[in-house]
Amino acid sequence: MGHKVDYLRLSVTDRCNYRCVYCMPPEGVPFKPHESLLSYEDMAFFVERAVEMGISKVRLTGGEPLVRRGVSDLVGLIRATSGIHGISLTTNGVLLPRFAHELKAAGLDRVNISLDSLDPERYRLLTRGGSLDNVLRGVEAALRASLDPVKINVVMMQGLLPELPDFVAVTRDRPLHVRFIEWMPVGGCGPRLPGDLLTKADAMAVLERLGAEGLGKPTPVQSPAGWGPAHYYQFPGHQGTIGFIGSMSDHFCGECNRLRLTADGRLKNCLFSDDEVDVKGAVQARDRDGVLALIQESLDKKTFNKDLISGWTSRGMSQVGG
Ligand code: SAM
Ligand code: SF4
Repeated sequence: MGHKVDYLRLSVTDRCNYRCVYCMPPEGVPFKPHESLLSYEDMAFFVERAVEMGISKVRLTGGEPLVRRGVSDLVGLIRATSGIHGISLTTNGVLLPRFAHELKAAGLDRVNISLDSLDPERYRLLTRGGSLDNVLRGVEAALRASLDPVKINVVMMQGLLPELPDFVAVTRDRPLHVRFIEWMPVGGCGPRLPGDLLTKADAMAVLERLGAEGLGKPTPVQSPAGWGPAHYYQFPGHQGTIGFIGSMSDHFCGECNRLRLTADGRLKNCLFSDDEVDVKGAVQARDRDGVLALIQESLDKKTFNKDLISGWTSRGMSQVGG
C-alpha cells in the first residue's frame, strides 16, 4: 500500500504534574506502578528494533515526560542508536528551566511545549492550577538551549479566539512556531458541549481578519521541520509560524506515519483505537525476533482510518502521550 511508518511516539511515564481539563479528569487517573513500566534500557532496546522496522524519528512524551527521573539518560541512549535521525520531546514546559540544557547536551533536537493560554487566569483554569510564568520560563530555557525548532502546542478550547492576536505576536520577533490543535475525543474526558470546541476553520477566520486589519495576509509556508500533519502559515515579516492540526476536521489518517509505545510496553497503531500489542515480555527478554514480529503485527493491523474505529478508548491522552 506504500504507507511509510517512520515515527515513534514513546510515552516514558503516565504520571503528570498537571491535570489539564481536556486531558485528565479532575481526580487524575490511577498511575501504573513504577515496576510495571519499561526501564530506559528496555525502551532503548525497543527503539533499536523499531529502527529495523523503518522508524527514524522518536518523540518522547508522557504523562509529563520530565517528571520521570533521568530522561536525559534515555535521550542519550536513543541518540546512540544508529538510524535515528531526530529526537523530540513534548512537554508542558514547567521543568524545562531545570532540564533544557542537559537534554540538549544528551542529544535532544527539538521540543514542543504545551501552552494553551497567554492569560494567567485562563491558563490556570485550563491546566487546573498551572502557572503561566513557569511555562514561559520553560519556553525561554528551550530557546536558550538552542533546541530547534521550539513549537508551542495550543489545544483549541472555548475562550481562545480573543487571544489569537497575542499568539500571533509570539511569532513576530522570535522563531517560535504556534500550533493550534483540535481537541480529540480520546479516553473519555474533556469538553462535552459543542460550544467548548473550536475548529481550524474558526481560528483561520480570525487570522484572516487580523491579516485584513493590518498584519498582512498569512501565507502558507513549509513546515518548520515537521513530522506530522500540521499546515503552517506565516504573517509578513514574522520569524515564526502559525500551524493547524485539524485532528477532527481534516482527513489525514491516510498519511499517518506513526506508532506509539506506552510506558508499560503496549504498542498502539492508532490514537483512536484500543488495539494494543503487548511487547513488554519480548522486550524484557531481549528477544529481537519476537519484538520484530510484534511490531509487524501492529503495523499489519493499522487501519489508517480512524472512522473505522468506534467508541472511547480506555486509555486517556495522558496514558498514551497524544
Ligand atoms: N504532558 C506533555 C504535554 O502536555 O505536552 C505531554 C503529553 S500531552 C498528552 C501531549 C499533547 O497532547 C499536548 O500538547 C496536549 O496539549 C495534547 N492533548 C492532550 N489531550 C488532548 C485532547 N483531548 N485533544 C487534543 N490534544 C490533546
Ligand atoms: Fe496536561 Fe500534558 Fe499532563 Fe495531559 S499529560 S494533563 S496535557 S500536562
